[in-house]
Amino acid sequence: MPTCRLCFSVYPREQFIHGNGPKAQVCVRCGVEKGMVSEEEVASLYSNSNANARFSALARRWSPLMWLSVLWTAWIVFLNDVEPWSLYTLILLALFSLVVPLYMFFFSSKHMAVMARLTPEYERPPGH
Ligand SMILES: [Zn+2]
Repeated sequence: MPTCRLCFSVYPREQFIHGNGPKAQVCVRCGVEKGMVSEEEVASLYSNSNANARFSALARRWSPLMWLSVLWTAWIVFLNDVEPWSLYTLILLALFSLVVPLYMFFFSSKHMAVMARLTPEYERPPGH
């Protein structure tokens, strides 16, 4: 995968603008930011709203794991030696720990569909 010569990021080929001279090896985001191309010209650009939507989809996808680790840490730090709540919360946490991977597995296809919907439609022209 090529590297953008302005921001040094590595992207797939379709994330680069076409052209010679100053437009060579420039990614679509740098091209739009430096005014080399307009936003309408680059179909593969991830707009800000698109990027935000993708980020929140990712956050929704992985937040159960984050909550699980936060709850386990809270249990270890605060509830470890509080009788009888340590046992009850330990059972609840164990149940959550068993259910969360299943939940994530069953919702993975929905997440992939959401990410596919948030991926810009772009067909690489022949010769590029
Ligand atoms: Zn760039």
